[in-house]
Amino acid sequence: MLEFDPHVLEEKAVPPPKEFSKRAHVKSLEEYRQMYDRAARDPEAFWGEQAKMLDWFEPPKRVLDWDLPHAKWFAGGKLNVAYNCLDRHLAKRGNKPALIWEAEDGAKVEFTYAELHQRVCRFANALKSLGVQPGDCVAIYMPMIPELPIAMLACARIGAVHSVVFGGFSSTALADRIADAKSKILLTADGGYRRGKIVPLKDTADAALKNCPTIEKSVVVRRTGGKVAWQEGRDLWWHDLEKAASKDSPAAPFDSEQPLYILYTSGTTGKPKGVLHTSAGYLLQCMWSMRLVFDLREDDVYWCTADIGWVTGHSYIVYGPLANGVTMVMYEGAPDQPGKDRFWEIVERYKVTIFYSSATAVRAFMAWGTDWINKHDISSLRLLGTVGEPINPAAWKWYAEAIGKHRCPIVDTWWQTETGSIMISPLPGATPAKPGSATLPLPGIAAKVVNLQGQPVAPGETGYLVIEKPWPSMLRTIYGDDERFRRDYWERIPGVYFAGDAAQCDKDGYIWVLGRVDDVIKVAGHRLSSMEIESVLVSHVSVAEAAVVARPDEIKGEAIVCFVTLRSGQTASGELRAALMEHVSVTIGSIARPADVRFCDLLPKTRSGKIMRRLLRELAHKGGISGDTTTLEDMAVIERLAQSQGRDDE
Ligand code: ATP
Ligand code: MG
Repeated sequence: MLEFDPHVLEEKAVPPPKEFSKRAHVKSLEEYRQMYDRAARDPEAFWGEQAKMLDWFEPPKRVLDWDLPHAKWFAGGKLNVAYNCLDRHLAKRGNKPALIWEAEDGAKVEFTYAELHQRVCRFANALKSLGVQPGDCVAIYMPMIPELPIAMLACARIGAVHSVVFGGFSSTALADRIADAKSKILLTADGGYRRGKIVPLKDTADAALKNCPTIEKSVVVRRTGGKVAWQEGRDLWWHDLEKAASKDSPAAPFDSEQPLYILYTSGTTGKPKGVLHTSAGYLLQCMWSMRLVFDLREDDVYWCTADIGWVTGHSYIVYGPLANGVTMVMYEGAPDQPGKDRFWEIVERYKVTIFYSSATAVRAFMAWGTDWINKHDISSLRLLGTVGEPINPAAWKWYAEAIGKHRCPIVDTWWQTETGSIMISPLPGATPAKPGSATLPLPGIAAKVVNLQGQPVAPGETGYLVIEKPWPSMLRTIYGDDERFRRDYWERIPGVYFAGDAAQCDKDGYIWVLGRVDDVIKVAGHRLSSMEIESVLVSHVSVAEAAVVARPDEIKGEAIVCFVTLRSGQTASGELRAALMEHVSVTIGSIARPADVRFCDLLPKTRSGKIMRRLLRELAHKGGISGDTTTLEDMAVIERLAQSQGRDDE
């Protein structure tokens, strides 16, 4: 492993606000460390103890059966995931709002725990009436409407496995995922709303179903009321089924390892994988991490802005929040509809206390400017979160100031579809934050930064992020490809889980995730992370967002190419390009001087908002794209970038 200059690691620690710590579940770093050490000494005892926060029909007989790479957690235990998210709250929280849903057009629907429970029970019976058995797979292709979590919980209630496919995907992407998971039933809607326009979900679903022989029925929620094509015998209206179904649905006990869902990764690094999660361990760790990381209180109003089509939505809109009995906000539409202050309007309207969003969203808010925020009273906020990509220190500081008003701690949460729940994050009342670092692993999580031999690397050296011990919410396999599961995650560095991310650990044990292993750039024998150079670019007043990739270079091995989008009001020019090159070179060193800086209006991103550097790498290298683009948000972005190739793009 080569030396790496630790520039981004110099950020000073920001202690948690005193007022926050006083009331927090975990009040000091010392308390966190005690908990961490206790869990490290005897992980099984630790997780066995935590498992008591679930309601069991039969308690587990063993905590862990581990036959690398296959884990069984809480064997012998029986529970029902939906019961844990709904039924058990009824006595104390029956009238507490569970879900406050806001439509893009401003309409609002509120569900108490009792109401949500009833809807789930009815739809669980509706699924049964269609012949859905425990273990059957149900594909869900829906907009962000309440029926989406209702459908997931109804599946969980009867032991069916859901496979949610993000509502923005094409018919081919949907058909591939249906075929891969062998789904029997499809749940969809006549359409959804996005930026005031109707997204014709049923049309897309119908196109997919031409190539999906496993699908027996397609159940359609009426959302827009628009006219849709109808195939008698196959298509059914959700409301008809729900009306006909009984409201009594006793929650049946299922094994701890009953499959809960399949979810495909976002495809940042390659072809998406069908990640399989099971019941007890997954639910437990979602519930437990949510309580700790968001420092939950009974009166919180929690809002996670992710789409339920991604793992963040599964774990931190559906299972984690509901298992904890929180009140949450769910929003149907786009952040800039009708204005760029829509999110702050929602925060003000519902007095949101916890706001969890993505790093990419934070950079967008920053580019839009603070005027949008200052129009609203957002003083109800007490905690902010981020996920999805490394958050550049400049964006972190902006988030802390413009939205957190230096009053709200920020939890930068590192985790993956595969890990199921948050693995590395500050505890907001305990851990001093360092902007740009996800800080320390949660108790029970043996996260390390190592070399290819599995030995820890020294502070300031780049290595691979691994998890050395199994954890309850870990993926159980790649659905239909157990060999790939073993090969991709457990054999790269034998015996440990290989996350695929490059990272560093600093002298305080803080972990800095630098991006994907594939995104590390080697210039003249030096390893530079794309994230470090991007952070420097984003710290320039003109820059909103940056993506940095390497292109082969005969002399240096690799040369650095930067793609940059500007903040509103800034214009691209030759001077600015030179200034940015200079800025990187002065801040990091001449070794990092970009060979090229290219301005663009948008960066290519996945549907979950992550920058797709592999496409930019291809573009910088070959001038065109041949890799998998099925999860790309907007093909036009790539086309525009390819056209501007070689041209002066000011
Ligand atoms: P694919 O595996 O198909 O390429 P993906 O990895 O983008 O897709 P996810 O599982 O949604 O799909 O993303 C997990 C990845 O996101 C992590 O491996 C990491 O690279 C990045 N990530 C998530 N949260 C953070 C964070 N707080 N800091 C840094 N990186 C993060
Ligand atoms: Mg991944």
